[in-house]
Amino acid sequence: MRTRAALFRAAGEALEVRELELEEPRAGEVLVRMAAVGICGTDLHMVKGEWSRPTPMVLGHEGSGVVEALGEGVEGLAEGDRVVLSWAPSCGRCADCRRGRPAGCVELQRAIGAGTLLDGTTGLSLDGETVYRGTATGALTERLVVGAGQALKLGDDIPLEQAALLGCAALTGVGAVAHSARPDPGASMLVVGVGGVGQFIVQAGRIAGAAAIVAVDPLEGRREQALRLGATCAVAPSELKGALGEIAPDGVDLALDAVGAPETTKLALRWTRNGGKVVIVGLPAAGARLELDPAEFNRREKVLTGSMYGSEDPAVGLPQLLEHVRAGRLELASLLGPSYALDDVNDAFEASLAGSPGRVLVTP
Ligand SMILES: [Zn+2]
Ligand SMILES: [Zn+2]
Repeated sequence: MRTRAALFRAAGEALEVRELELEEPRAGEVLVRMAAVGICGTDLHMVKGEWSRPTPMVLGHEGSGVVEALGEGVEGLAEGDRVVLSWAPSCGRCADCRRGRPAGCVELQRAIGAGTLLDGTTGLSLDGETVYRGTATGALTERLVVGAGQALKLGDDIPLEQAALLGCAALTGVGAVAHSARPDPGASMLVVGVGGVGQFIVQAGRIAGAAAIVAVDPLEGRREQALRLGATCAVAPSELKGALGEIAPDGVDLALDAVGAPETTKLALRWTRNGGKVVIVGLPAAGARLELDPAEFNRREKVLTGSMYGSEDPAVGLPQLLEHVRAGRLELASLLGPSYALDDVNDAFEASLAGSPGRVLVTP
């Protein structure tokens, strides 16, 4: 079988849309006709050359589509089902899998580093040459074969373009608040970076009843978006000190770093009150190191932790998100940015790199 897909070869080079050879779904796998794929920070790390992975690679891991065919023995899914992709196929046996954290699965982490699926294959090639998969997925393609456990059923009421956001940004951002930060009603929260994931952190803070949600971001469009989504205050980094002096002079109860760079984590830690908690949500560039003052933890009793893929099994987290969406608590439509055809994938990356306030989508 063949599929058209966007190939990434090296940082600084344009992506190339090529027709690839795609293996038929094997036992336990499904074929998905992709409808929409969001460009995520992880994809940007790759095109900026901040991570090194084997190439050529199909990037993209946040997406939605329709099941087109089933491999042998697949239960619970049927042709025509609308699905959201999870990027965490996992072994089900390791310690992380057993504690309900498939994103931490040892085999998954190995596969992501190797650009493959869990079994070391990719099912994709170009003229006999292996084509690798971004984040054990590789969604920037018309058709995609994934394990049935990676295709999470969506129902019929949410448009596929909006649903794409659920697969990474929403699970990551909402889960980081619900399962890691866990604000008490009335809490004060700082959200560092209000791009795709940060916008869901803001919404989850509002849902949890945080009284003050301060968003900090250098981009004005993103600050405006954060205010619409429930931030009580949105400032540029240079204005943060002044704003917090009024709102939380002793520091915030919780700070979530949606960027994950050492300097943004430092900012989050600095403005957290004594005894408060910082959650690193965004992923740093490879090799980034954080310099820490131990007094933040002993004398000031702060807690620094991190959250990966919402600190939750996506198969458990997605139905909770859908409930929020259906009840009108979680906004998706206004989070969509511009949408591009697969052939215009380079324009999509350009828009995302430029800091589009809305999620940039490719509709293969
Ligand atoms: Zn992502
Ligand atoms: Zn595992």
